[in-house]
Amino acid sequence: MSLLDQKTLVLNRSWHAIHVTTVRRALAMLYRDAARVVTPETFEMHDFDSWAELSTHRRRSGPAVTGVRLRLRIPEVIVLNGYDGVPVRRVSFSRRNIYKRDNYTCQYCGKRYGTEDLSIDHVVPRSRGGRLSWTNCVIACLACNVRKGNRTLEEAGMRLISTPKKPDWKPYLELTLGYRRKSWEKFISDRYWDAELCEE
Ligand SMILES: [Zn+2]
Repeated sequence: MSLLDQKTLVLNRSWHAIHVTTVRRALAMLYRDAARVVTPETFEMHDFDSWAELSTHRRRSGPAVTGVRLRLRIPEVIVLNGYDGVPVRRVSFSRRNIYKRDNYTCQYCGKRYGTEDLSIDHVVPRSRGGRLSWTNCVIACLACNVRKGNRTLEEAGMRLISTPKKPDWKPYLELTLGYRRKSWEKFISDRYWDAELCEE
């Protein structure tokens, strides 16, 4: 893998880890003055010029990419100059995520099952204009699904154990997946790494 394709951790202006990007993009943001580099050892911040200077003068400071006239140490962590928020990531409306949201639990009888014994039920049946959406789809066991049939809740005399809604999952969680550098540890609290992927 090219050094430019390696990963850089992105912090927002308040030093919350929000994103992982490539070294290539991190250097571009540094060059545009959209971000500064944080040296993980000292928490010093550098703009493009001071980073270039540091990269040149401290030869043994770590892996670096070298251009014709320029040597730049790889930024392992950058902090954005302008962005203080936390990005909103859309939770995809997928079968997997509906099962996750409902915790593999039939929303009518409240029992937990394996995926093979569960299916997606339209609370308002499709034949009555019910939509395929977060608020109209729940997980049901086969028995409850058959019992409810093509009827509304009122008609079937059944109740949901919770109101279906779009999950409000934390945007940090994708950091739990895949590669991470040792130097990132101090920027990311255990709360993020250990959080349940399916918590609401
Ligand atoms: Zn059930």
